[in-house]
Amino acid sequence: MRPEILNPLFASVDTLKGVGKRRADLLQKLLNIPDDEGARILDILFHLPWQVVDRRLRENIAGAEIGGTATLDVTVGAHTRPPRKGLPYKVNVFDDSGELTLVFFSPRAEYLAKQLPEGERRLISGETTEFGGELQMAHPQYIVDPDSKATIPEIEPVYPLTAGLSGKILAPLIAEGLASIPALPEWIDATLLNNHSWSSFKVAISELHHPKDISALDPTLAPWNRLAYDELLAGQLALGLVRQRLRRSLGRRRRGDGSLRRKILDGLSFTLTTSQERSVEEIADDIGRPDRMLRLLQGDVGSGKTIVALLAMAIVVESGAQTVLMAPTEILVQQHYDTLTGFSSGAGIKIAALTGRTKGKTRASLLEDLKLGKIDVLVTTHAGFQDDVQFRELGLAVIDEQHRFGVHQRLALANKGNNADLLVMTATPIPRSLVLAAFGDMDVSRLLEKPAGRKSIDTRILPQAREEELLLRLDIAMKAGARVYWVCPLVEESDLVPANSAEQRFAMLESRFGSRVGIIHGRMKGADKVRVMEAFTEGSIDLLVATTVIEVGVDVPDASIMIVENAERFGLAQLHQLRGRIGRGPTQSSCILLYQGELSKNAEARLTIMRETEDGFRIAEEDLRLRGEGDLLGTQQSGVPGFRLARLEHHAGLLDIARQDARHILAQDPLLKSDRGQSLQVLLHLFERGDAIRLLASG
Ligand code: ADP
Ligand code: MG
Repeated sequence: MRPEILNPLFASVDTLKGVGKRRADLLQKLLNIPDDEGARILDILFHLPWQVVDRRLRENIAGAEIGGTATLDVTVGAHTRPPRKGLPYKVNVFDDSGELTLVFFSPRAEYLAKQLPEGERRLISGETTEFGGELQMAHPQYIVDPDSKATIPEIEPVYPLTAGLSGKILAPLIAEGLASIPALPEWIDATLLNNHSWSSFKVAISELHHPKDISALDPTLAPWNRLAYDELLAGQLALGLVRQRLRRSLGRRRRGDGSLRRKILDGLSFTLTTSQERSVEEIADDIGRPDRMLRLLQGDVGSGKTIVALLAMAIVVESGAQTVLMAPTEILVQQHYDTLTGFSSGAGIKIAALTGRTKGKTRASLLEDLKLGKIDVLVTTHAGFQDDVQFRELGLAVIDEQHRFGVHQRLALANKGNNADLLVMTATPIPRSLVLAAFGDMDVSRLLEKPAGRKSIDTRILPQAREEELLLRLDIAMKAGARVYWVCPLVEESDLVPANSAEQRFAMLESRFGSRVGIIHGRMKGADKVRVMEAFTEGSIDLLVATTVIEVGVDVPDASIMIVENAERFGLAQLHQLRGRIGRGPTQSSCILLYQGELSKNAEARLTIMRETEDGFRIAEEDLRLRGEGDLLGTQQSGVPGFRLARLEHHAGLLDIARQDARHILAQDPLLKSDRGQSLQVLLHLFERGDAIRLLASG
């Protein structure tokens, strides 16, 4: 149970003034919150600014820096309505030093007449540009009369990825959220707090949302450090509690006789790579030991983790127990089910799939079979966490693409089998040094080489302006049988972001290529998604327009072309994941990265890396490096899953301290009963590691 003191922070954002359904949805998108959970106040508070705009009134028109943000005290001059359609509405303004033209595209004239009455003084703030020898400001962010000066923030924080949600909208929400932070007990050790000159949680987070200048947002300074430490400490404590618990529950030795494994291997059309073989041996070794296995199987997209998982599960099935494979989405469950069934057809392993769509009689009889031990391998989503999903004897839980699941969900799952071994599969190329932070104390097996016979992918960078040429080529390729992904970035319909939404793109491609085109995106129902993926797999659709829902783990080996639209807006890790969807079959694959407008230096560097290499570890390193240089394209895309505030490129040092701190705490106060222990329980709940607390009570 979450302590009541935290309730205000976990209240839904729609309890904030001015937030209705539409804004709540926007916030949920912006904050990357899964569809079935809404954004909470805590989520906006943890969404930290990455830039500031200085709106202090300092210069006059003559002194305004072109291309910068200026706040000016001006007198309104003449309005000029657009002479013809397509041209902007202009308003002349001036001060003693010169004049400036305010420019509005498709405005409401009455509104502007009211906002900017001729002859009156106004304070305006926005970006200045020069156009045709004229100093201009397009769509100022602020137009206020001089009495309302205070409504223009002097230093305005800028938040990442706020398409459709301006800082102006966010600011009052954040202010209200900050005000609702209760007085929380201090959980950090007093000496540590003093040594680092850290202030309280509330003060630290307030400071970050009200930066005095850009340097206040330095992740290595006190306010951010404090919050990162909170998060890291919560993580380490939770892991410590899990470990404490696991130590009390022994695993079982399972060896198996190799019969199923032999049959599976005999049926494969390929031979295992060396690292696949080694990983299977390492896993077999763990499973054969009396203590519980906690192992991470790390391998780039397409490196062949699935067969390794199947062989691991086969060992357990040979020994008479059951296994579960969990994946984050229904599509993946379906795919794993198909793949595993294919691989094990000759071995006689009983495999079943359970998702939220499995209902009624089917579900009841499946659960019955599971309980009786008639099912060897259950492939499932979150649906598998439900209490009525019971195994006769669960020996191994395999979790694919785990970053969608929390540590404690994994644990909940492992607890369904009191001594089940745990294998986590990830394609995230986390450096070994960070595995601990992300996954806790796990052993690691790595798939280093790609399966033999895989051709490299030809990656090209192309301006959107050459789209027509691309479409002509696509037509030819599709007529020759190619299967194509067309990926669009997820955006709100906003005229500020020049990006094509998937639906628009679909309409355009459909009018050109007809029924060969399909679409899949996050707002579709699971069943519809599965249907579209099936059509694409079978080839009744040749071109699939998608948002990044295809990103995780989708396997259609026949797909050989991927087009990523507005590739400049994607993070490197994401592009790498996306590109991993092609190049899986025997044909030569190509990836076309389309970009719009001028590429920034950083974007160019990112796309160039994509062209140069397919090595996931190298891409991860470059990603970290480029981000360190100030490109903050979505902190959520940071390579290490599970952290909201801590950024390991800056806070890795704190991780060590947190680990020692957690160990020390649990050695002295294993049940978190002391005063500090109780405060730490609040911390755990604050970072949603509350499940770990339940372990204090349980066996
Ligand atoms: P991922 O690690 O991304 O989950 P998969 O397990 O989906 O990768 O494997 C990608 C593809 O490679 C699958 O079609 C699989 O059958 C194939 N594959 C796996 N191992 C090998 C191998 N040793 N040789 C050739 N193909 C392989
Ligand atoms: Mg996979």
